[in-house]
Amino acid sequence: MSKRIAIVRYDEIGLKGKNRKFFVDALSRNIRAKLQNLENIKVFSPHGRVVVQLDSEAVELCDTRLKDIPGISSFSFGIEVAREFDEIAKRGIEWIEPLLLDRSNLKFCVRSRRSDKSFYKTSTECDFEIGSRIMQKLSPSGLTVDIKNADYVLEVEIGRDHAWVYSGRKIGLRGLPVGVAGEALSLLSGGIDSPVASHMIIRRGCRVHFIFFENRAFLGKGGYDKVLRLAKKLNHFQDKGKLCVIPFGDIQMAIRDQCRPENRVVLYRRMMYRISEEVAKRLGYKALITGESLGQVASQTLENLAAVSTVVETSVFRPLIGMDKLDIIRKAEEIGTYEISIEPHQDCCSVFMPPNPATKAKIRLLEDDETKFPFQSLAQAAMENMEWVELDKL
Ligand code: ATP
Ligand code: MG
Repeated sequence: MSKRIAIVRYDEIGLKGKNRKFFVDALSRNIRAKLQNLENIKVFSPHGRVVVQLDSEAVELCDTRLKDIPGISSFSFGIEVAREFDEIAKRGIEWIEPLLLDRSNLKFCVRSRRSDKSFYKTSTECDFEIGSRIMQKLSPSGLTVDIKNADYVLEVEIGRDHAWVYSGRKIGLRGLPVGVAGEALSLLSGGIDSPVASHMIIRRGCRVHFIFFENRAFLGKGGYDKVLRLAKKLNHFQDKGKLCVIPFGDIQMAIRDQCRPENRVVLYRRMMYRISEEVAKRLGYKALITGESLGQVASQTLENLAAVSTVVETSVFRPLIGMDKLDIIRKAEEIGTYEISIEPHQDCCSVFMPPNPATKAKIRLLEDDETKFPFQSLAQAAMENMEWVELDKL
């Protein structure tokens, strides 16, 4: 029986010059990991692409999984056959014939390439040999050849002891394979923005772990459940992610009781940044990620963003900084986090919200507020009680 194959293409990795092998190996590894529970899977990387050999029954599942792996620009499913023109043309006929049933004409062409350059025909000759066999059978049904404007392109790759025949390209996630860019920690709140921000960085090759600040005493467990589902959904694009949950209630109460009410949100955020940095440093994560977007809410003015950035030395990535809310929503729908994010659960930042939060908090006054409560020991206590969830295990 003929073997099924998936041809996986990568665009951006192709530009990597000497580092290309490192990137391709990472992509192959990630594909193998995602498909590991399918039987008889083989993943290898001949020049310029990754190829998956699989059973026919596994095609559908493989299709869904490849769509969510960063680093893949497009992929096609096809078949591995003997490198004989009759055999290759037979496959083409099998696939094209049904398309002619409900239309009077179809323009097609064959595009061959040879990974075995010693094959006795050139690529153009292969196109002709295969195309003419298909035409012989199907031109009476309305099939014509059109190299520039084909409705159907039959792609053929001639290797050393086989040929791969495939057609149609499915769009991949693009970006870079997870693992090539190290690890980062994303402040995940349960809103719409931070999941989108996390996804954007996962797509740039980073493994992203998550940190959630929870005020369970005031808000119950709903927020935690929601963030857990979001983190799991995002982990699906990468695997091996972890979620860190930090109890934040005591810190919020101290800020409420001791500090200027208008500074509360910025003070919460400064504490979140400090704790996140400490966690990231302990685990070797190289950057923090947030879903902040310029001007979206009071805490995201230039002044307030600066007032929080200043408490950490770690890089803070804000991939949504210049994005419109509508574009962010569209992205959230695309990656499947929107439905979860809009479930009604308050975030801890809105707890004890003052009537007039400062839109231009003054660092001098924030620092003064922070002398009024023991923020270092509260941060240490919160970290002693943090919980870790391994997302692969859920
Ligand atoms: P989001 O939709 O991501 O909640 P937002 O527009 O509601 O963002 P803010 O509430 O100001 O904005 O939060 C800004 C960012 O701060 C969030 O995107 C997230 O990265 C971080 N953040 C806020 N609350 C929390 C939390 N409870 N735990 C972890 N991170 C948080
Ligand atoms: Mg929020």
